[in-house]
Amino acid sequence: MKIARYLAHGQISYGAVEGDNVKELSASPFEAYTITDHTHPLSDVKLLAPCVPSKILAIGLNYSSHMGDRTPPSEPMVFYKTPTSLIGPDDTIVRPKDTAKLDAEAELVVVIKDRCRNVAKEDAMQHVLGYTCGNDVSARDWQASDGNWWRAKSSDTFSPAGPFIVTDLDPHNVRVTSRINGKEVQSETTTYLIFDIPTLIAYTTRFVTLEPGDMIYTGTPGTPGEMKDGDVCEIEIEGIGVLRNPVKLES
Ligand code: MG
Repeated sequence: MKIARYLAHGQISYGAVEGDNVKELSASPFEAYTITDHTHPLSDVKLLAPCVPSKILAIGLNYSSHMGDRTPPSEPMVFYKTPTSLIGPDDTIVRPKDTAKLDAEAELVVVIKDRCRNVAKEDAMQHVLGYTCGNDVSARDWQASDGNWWRAKSSDTFSPAGPFIVTDLDPHNVRVTSRINGKEVQSETTTYLIFDIPTLIAYTTRFVTLEPGDMIYTGTPGTPGEMKDGDVCEIEIEGIGVLRNPVKLES
C-alpha cells in the first residue's frame, strides 16, 4: 500500500494512492482505519510530508562508500533532526546565506508504526509502518565547525521527505538515487547498509521511546552533491517514487 498525506479543500488527510488517484483514509494510518470512497485525482491535491513525527533520528556513516578515510563505527552513529526542519514534496529547500556548502543526502527513511521501547531485533519490523524517500540536507561547513549539528542538519527546510509511505517494500534491496538538475549524483542499493533496519530500531529503542510517525533517516551512500540557488534536487527510491524539491538561496 502507498500512503499519502495531503491537503485538499483546506483539509489535511491521509489517503491510499491507487494509480493517479488518492482515496481518503477514515483515520491516520497509525490507527485503525478504512479506505473510504472519497477520491481525489493526485494532481488536485497538495502532497505534504508523509507523516508528523515527534522526532527524527538519522544515522551517519551507514554505507562504506560514504566513509572515505573515516573509521567504520562499531555502533550506529545516531543524531537528531528536528520536526520543524521537515518539508514535503515540491516544497523549497532554503539555502542559508551564510553556509559555504549545502549538500543533498539521499536516504531511505523508516516510518515507525507504534509506540515502542526496548525492541528485540527479531520483532523490529513489526513496528515499521513503511518507508519513504528522505533528503538529509547538510551544511558541511557548519557540520565541521559547530560543536554539534543543530543547524548543519536541522535548519528549517533541511529534512525533505515523501512523496509517499510504501508499506510493502523490501527495504534492504532497493536502489537509492539522487539527482541534481537531472544529473545523477548518488546511486546505490540499500543492500550495502552497514547497520540494517532491525539493528537500528533495536539499538535506538534501548535508549529512546519511538512514537507513531517517528522517522529514521538511515544514512546516505557515496558522495553527496551540492545544491545551489535555482537547482532542483530529486531523491528517488525504487518502489516509492521521486521526492523533488527546488532550492532557493535565503533572501
Ligand atoms: Mg545523512
